[in-house]
Amino acid sequence: MPDLHTLYHELILDHSRSPRNHREMPDADLQQEGRNPLCGDHVHVWLRMDGDRIADVSFVGKGCAISQASASIMTTAVKGKTREEAEALFNRFHDLVTGHLSDEDAETLPSRLGAFSGVARFPVRVKCASLSWHALRSALREEPRTASPE
Ligand code: ZN
Repeated sequence: MPDLHTLYHELILDHSRSPRNHREMPDADLQQEGRNPLCGDHVHVWLRMDGDRIADVSFVGKGCAISQASASIMTTAVKGKTREEAEALFNRFHDLVTGHLSDEDAETLPSRLGAFSGVARFPVRVKCASLSWHALRSALREEPRTASPE
């Protein structure tokens, strides 16, 4: 039986080294930035919408491996989803990393999101893992762009 923690660790390393959908999107319909001052993480998320559906999603960012891998995996998880589906996924991912998702429910999550289940044991890492998801939800809700603190 493969060691799940090793697999998850490799998945996070793979996405942090070779992030997917890692580019700016000049023709984006929606965008939002997120910052985690505790860790120095920064992500910028862009979305192109087709009606209610996320036609394309991309990000650029810098920071720790968990924040960048999570952003990369988030883009692969929400592309093609409706706003409602993406919000539902946000809620379940947030429950997962804060330790509020039942094991039964966790099993129905896309497996690559399960890679972050261990984060619940490290509260300081929750913000790293959820940063890009907060930026996604804020963009989908068309909240005003977060002012850059610099
Ligand atoms: Zn971080």
